[in-house]
Amino acid sequence: MKRFVLTRRRGGAGLLLLLLLTGAVAAQRPPVAVYEVYAIQFASAPYGVKNLVAGVTDSRSIDIAFTVWVARGGGKTVLVDAGFYRDKFIQQWKPRDFVKPSEAIERGLGIKADLVTDIIVSHSHWDHMDGVDLFPNARIHIQKDEYEYYIGPAGEVLHRGGVDPDDAKMMAALKDARVTLVNGDAQEILPGITVYTGGKHTFASQYAAINTRRGTVVIASDNAYLYENLEKHLAIAQTVDAESNLKAQTRMLQLAASPSLVVPGHDPAVFERFPSPGKGVARIDR
Ligand SMILES: [Zn+2]
Repeated sequence: MKRFVLTRRRGGAGLLLLLLLTGAVAAQRPPVAVYEVYAIQFASAPYGVKNLVAGVTDSRSIDIAFTVWVARGGGKTVLVDAGFYRDKFIQQWKPRDFVKPSEAIERGLGIKADLVTDIIVSHSHWDHMDGVDLFPNARIHIQKDEYEYYIGPAGEVLHRGGVDPDDAKMMAALKDARVTLVNGDAQEILPGITVYTGGKHTFASQYAAINTRRGTVVIASDNAYLYENLEKHLAIAQTVDAESNLKAQTRMLQLAASPSLVVPGHDPAVFERFPSPGKGVARIDR
């Protein structure tokens, strides 16, 4: 009996100690990074829906949005994709209402280009990666498999259709100083930001899940072009593997705190569903 009492007393003290220690550990742990997330439109252009959504045969055309996404929090200013600005793309695509992505984020959010700390490149297409060198201090996060499939050691194009030659050279020039090659799926590359592969828009395209006050927001980029892909469960029309793309879309919808928090890559409706603050800026975690 005496022994039992002693044990209980020790147990009580142990519990108290445990609580104190747990409290101390919790106090030392860095706070979970919570980001504000914005979509910033910097151009638009008419485009056939059948080129965006697999299985569509009608002749609908929409003014697709060219967008960069900003995640601000935890002492970081992170871009998901960097848009485009080289003159040859402007001449070829004749986008409407074009402003350089760097100017769009300064106009929309007051963020100067040199204050961007990180850029997550979802994939190496020109309309997402060309603008990387507008942001002189940013660390660039791209999937290792994506980079190495498309871009050779001297900046040469290894597989056509994935990267513009000028963008390949630009990335190769930045590689040693500023590029982080991400090793595959489900990598937390910054506190509160995890990237996932499998979308198969390109060889190793990635999408980003970002912790916000509303829970997880998923920036799909072109792994889902439009809400129509997500809502009708239709693969993107330009993919290297439609079945994988559909699986990835399902996963994005599961990862997000709600289906409405999966943000597609080119849908102008993003700026209607998230109408504030407006003028080409949509706050997603409002
Ligand atoms: Zn795109």
